[in-house]
Amino acid sequence: MSLIVVGSVAYDGVETPHGKIDRMLGGAATYIALAAAWFTPVKLVAVVGDDFAPEDVDLLASRAIDLDGLERVAGGKTFFWAGKYSPDMNDRTTLRTDLNVFADFDPKLPDSYRSAPYLLLGNIQPSLQKNVRAQMTAVKFAGGDTMNYWINDFRAELLETIREWDFLLINDTEARLLSGEHNLRRAAARILEMGPRALVVKRGEYGAVLFQGGCHFMAPGYLLEDVFDPTGAGDSFAGGFIGYLAGRGVSPSNGAIDFAELRRAVIYGSVMGSFCCEKFGVDRFRTLTREEIEARYREFQDCTAF
Ligand code: AMP
Repeated sequence: MSLIVVGSVAYDGVETPHGKIDRMLGGAATYIALAAAWFTPVKLVAVVGDDFAPEDVDLLASRAIDLDGLERVAGGKTFFWAGKYSPDMNDRTTLRTDLNVFADFDPKLPDSYRSAPYLLLGNIQPSLQKNVRAQMTAVKFAGGDTMNYWINDFRAELLETIREWDFLLINDTEARLLSGEHNLRRAAARILEMGPRALVVKRGEYGAVLFQGGCHFMAPGYLLEDVFDPTGAGDSFAGGFIGYLAGRGVSPSNGAIDFAELRRAVIYGSVMGSFCCEKFGVDRFRTLTREEIEARYREFQDCTAF
């Protein structure tokens, strides 16, 4: 059950209390694709420059991620982002954003992608997200992510875009900003009136809350002994969430997805987000195994059953 993943493929410079790396593979779509590919075939849509290293292509290809939609701009440079985390790693300051080839990103789906049933739109300009959705011919379940910048400065465009989505994944600050409500429950109710049938509010180390119809489900954050680098954790969560649902072949019935499947998807999202934090950048995804994923899923079950 193919999943289309659209968003940034980047080089990142990251500093955390555990160390500093000047340049490594990153980007929201990279994390989403690497996490989702454990569950379902992934087709990537992104743009890079000709500085994009063959070993980074190899990593994505080694997970059977379809790269027909990875555009390479000759003479261009790949998007570069740098950030520094606070000592408790709950806050991060962006030090540099060089959009480079990402500034003109205008995603065009290869013909072989258009009939895919699942779509995850990473954080890009809402009108581009809307254009991608419109290029697909047989979508069963589509949604994505956004960020403060689009909520503040492109609100009308964003509202028009998410109206067509089945699900929205955002963090708690963004949920408050989008809804104008401080109380998370009220914020969720307002957002569900904007179009998406399901909403996942990510709360960093505190986990995530899923809302659909009148129901909600709370997943704790996994208690890691050491967080090395939280970069990409939200995107890895998104990849685990949608990857699981795509792998199961879910379809909405009367607009809603079976709530038990959505709960499991939130736990797989939490599992993938937690692995992401264990090493710098995408490194944990280089060694991860299916057994480790399932063992952590069971641990979530054990430590939340009562
Ligand atoms: P997260 O930690 O889940 O917010 O994701 C971090 C990833 O998002 C990094 O790998 C960055 O390369 C990427 N990123 C940072 N800023 C942007 C942006 N403005 N648009 C798209 N991707 C971004």
